Amino acid sequence: MGAAIGLGCALLFASGPSMADAKNPKIGFSIDDLRLERWTRDRDYFIGAAEKLGAKVYVQSADASEQRQIAQIENLISRGVDVLVIVPYNATVLNNAIREAKKAKIKVLSYDRLILNADVDAYISFDNKAVGELQAQSIVGLKPKGNYYLLGGAPTDNNAKILREGQMKVLQPLIDKGDIKVVGRQWVKDWSASEAMSIVENALTANGNKIDAVVASNDATAGGAIQALASQKLAGKVPVSGQDADLAAVRRVIAGTQAMTVYKPLKTIATSAATLAVQLVRNEKPAYNSQINNGYKQVSTVLLKPILLTKSNVDMLVKDGFYTQGQLAGK
Ligand code: BGC
Repeated sequence: MGAAIGLGCALLFASGPSMADAKNPKIGFSIDDLRLERWTRDRDYFIGAAEKLGAKVYVQSADASEQRQIAQIENLISRGVDVLVIVPYNATVLNNAIREAKKAKIKVLSYDRLILNADVDAYISFDNKAVGELQAQSIVGLKPKGNYYLLGGAPTDNNAKILREGQMKVLQPLIDKGDIKVVGRQWVKDWSASEAMSIVENALTANGNKIDAVVASNDATAGGAIQALASQKLAGKVPVSGQDADLAAVRRVIAGTQAMTVYKPLKTIATSAATLAVQLVRNEKPAYNSQINNGYKQVSTVLLKPILLTKSNVDMLVKDGFYTQGQLAGK
């Protein structure tokens, strides 16, 4: 596994910003939080793909701290990377750091999460609105009527809001009809499983356990919700959605305690992002398929297609090499 390359290795950098080296670009990859399962996979696929293209990658994890992320980005800038690839922790606080990058002629690619109000060159993600729709459609398919709890993502993450838009596109007509009643909604700080658990515990208490479905925005928060449901013997009875195809979540889908997850082939986003980053440095024309406004400009965007994953198609993960059969079986 390609370990995170810390700034120790960055001593290899030339001091001060260098001219973009088109043949062997230096990529700074600033990731919100490598403590979460999915991002370590993004990192590993990204490094593999970038190195094949002749690039060198310097990875930093902000561990869910906006100050740390800003400091790490500034460090990568002063050490002369050619392009920054950023998974922002807080979408709204990076405009100064990015202004500095642009002054130093460094390209900026927003990875998975959109950086708001800043001059980014490009954005790559999965279609988050479609993810939200898949989540809500699956839950509605299982519980067309009843009391719903909406467990949102981190309030600092633009994706959390887009996911909710997708979910509401499906839910609003049913709410208007009176079939679905939203008995509570909450954003979950840092997408934390333990926070999700206490939110759902409180919601169960407040509603005398009369919650029929939980629309959770990712697998970490789904895991917390399911733990809270399990302590009331409701796991598997109350459908819960998720996203990421985290190993624990796929096992819950197989066991029937989580209704679905969304598979986003991380190899695809990481490989496409590595190509895009190198193309930006080489002033080549990437194949964008969308434009998204980030409050500062229309950002050229690549949106990839998410895949609904239920008990009936988990095998796809094995065929795709995402997990082995043994991993799914818990061996
Ligand atoms: C990503 C999800 C992930 C979440 C928490 C979101 O921005 O799109 O895949 O579960 O962050 O890390």
